[in-house]
Amino acid sequence: MVDYDKIKELALESGFTHIGDLDADLIELRTEVRDMCAENKCKSYGKNWSCPPGCGTLSECEDKIRKFKKGLILQTTGELEDSFDFEAMTEINEAHGKAIADFAKKIGGIYPEAMVLGAGACTICKECTYPDEPCRFPDKMIASMEAYGIVVSDICSANNIPYYYGPNTLTYVGCVLID
Ligand code: SF4
Repeated sequence: MVDYDKIKELALESGFTHIGDLDADLIELRTEVRDMCAENKCKSYGKNWSCPPGCGTLSECEDKIRKFKKGLILQTTGELEDSFDFEAMTEINEAHGKAIADFAKKIGGIYPEAMVLGAGACTICKECTYPDEPCRFPDKMIASMEAYGIVVSDICSANNIPYYYGPNTLTYVGCVLID
């Protein structure tokens, strides 16, 4: 039986600011999110095994997600001076990435089958091998919620977890699927 209280403690130790229960049946994988990826505003589309199209079709991603019933939503919230505070936005994004990487190591040691999704492309290697060579660390690679077609605000509200924590705050979202 999965000890979710213990896992929540580990997640807090990794640096997340908010953690909530995730009902995997409420996860919707939407082609519209994939369409936004294809616009390549983040410049990662077609450049990383963790991003579309390298991370697989939406149907392949759905097959992976539907193996699970429960998990946790993992959030990192930070404060901005104003809506143009790009330095703080970068810092919050980096803090979330570090928390995801740290937590993925911990959870992988306890539940090797657990699946962690973060925000943005995998950054384990300085340069991703995509598409010329296979991924160097397929067991460690962390794809993003968006790559799996998930609208992060929707999955938070479906699970009764806030996504908005007030004016001049920014929240990055990840999740772990465990059982
Ligand atoms: S582990 Fe390396 S090769 Fe694999 S997706 Fe991440 S950056 Fe690319």
